[in-house]
Amino acid sequence: MISVADGQNHVLQSIATVTPSEIVPLRAALGRVLADEVRAPFDVPPADNSAVDGYAVADADIPAENSRDLRVVADLAAGAVFDGALARGQAIHIMTGAPLPAGAGTVYPQEIVQRDGDRVRIGSLAPGANVRCRGEDVASGARIIAAGTVLRPQELGLAASLGLCQLAVHARPRVALLSTGDEVAEPGTTRKPGQIYDANRFALSASVEQCGGAVIDLGIVPDRRDELRARLLEAADMADLVITSGGVSVGVYDLVKDVLEEIGGIDFWQVAMQPGRPLAVGHLGRAHFFGLPGNPVASMLTFLLFVRPALYKMSGRTRLSSDLYPARAAEAMQKKPGRREFKRGVLAWCGDGFEVRTTGPQGSGILSSMVAGNCLVVIEEERGDVKAGEYVLVEPFAGPWPG
Ligand code: AMP
Ligand code: MG
Repeated sequence: MISVADGQNHVLQSIATVTPSEIVPLRAALGRVLADEVRAPFDVPPADNSAVDGYAVADADIPAENSRDLRVVADLAAGAVFDGALARGQAIHIMTGAPLPAGAGTVYPQEIVQRDGDRVRIGSLAPGANVRCRGEDVASGARIIAAGTVLRPQELGLAASLGLCQLAVHARPRVALLSTGDEVAEPGTTRKPGQIYDANRFALSASVEQCGGAVIDLGIVPDRRDELRARLLEAADMADLVITSGGVSVGVYDLVKDVLEEIGGIDFWQVAMQPGRPLAVGHLGRAHFFGLPGNPVASMLTFLLFVRPALYKMSGRTRLSSDLYPARAAEAMQKKPGRREFKRGVLAWCGDGFEVRTTGPQGSGILSSMVAGNCLVVIEEERGDVKAGEYVLVEPFAGPWPG
């Protein structure tokens, strides 16, 4: 049996290529992975400009004490440019964002001056106040977004501020998804006695999308060798990665491993973890193959541990793993040494730190534990039972927290 870390390394080493790049408009780029770094073609802001609505003055006109009257010679709206230069004794009424006129070095907010006709009375102020300097956000030539970055709203805004309307991103890896099992029924159809509805294909398909993959939904395959073989070959033909759930354990009808050995290859099977021990990782034609366990919690967890980093690497992402954070165990937790255990937890701030409790029963078929939880509690191989008050590591779930 392989350890979680060795299994993860194995998976990552087997992925040698990233998906090609494609050009998408900024509006379609949220969550995509940048393929070519973005460098600034000019300074942002492109010129010194006013940070407030007020009066631009020459620094030499700022009184060291008391006040001074200046003559207002122009109104400058954002977008307007003052041609000419400010002379001594003059001020310009300037709006936020308007370029600073030549000769001006400081802007008085209009709230701190007195205006009377074409005169404005100013007091003392630090030279350079309320001026946004050319290039203070981004200097021309600077790399502002690295290749491999997942694009968030702020990266898109920054790219737009440079005048870009499209970006080169990595194509989404194509992920074929199949559920296996004679007992598995399609939601929305009538369930026969002994059948259960397919939870995995829906949780996994959403997980694939959350990780930036494009889902090819191939439905449910019965536990029949010839049919499984045909459907897997078909899947491998159209995808970069094939995921099945169920049929990888040691039961008579657990055929996925056998069929994979016949038409592809298994790199490893069985991982020292709980839940999720039966897991078949290998290849099928040019596609990477992940035979995830049938139990719904186990399939989601093995997805997070093994498929997610694979998808991230294929799609060119720089960061392949999530951070773990320490939290105090609010209750005792049972743990067998020798394997890594993952419990569904509820992480909450308790005044002087983060505390985590489990969601209750932790069976690998209890999918409601994933719904009740907002994190995974990750308990390392060498540890035994955890006492209340000891520290454990947690990985918060991605996406919005419930409630
Ligand atoms: P298996 O490894 O195929 O024996 O499946 C283990 C357990 O997971 C069994 O109780 C299955 O009924 C259940 N299971 C398998 N596939 C799914 C699925 N797609 N959705 C929900 N439960 C499943
Ligand atoms: Mg099965």
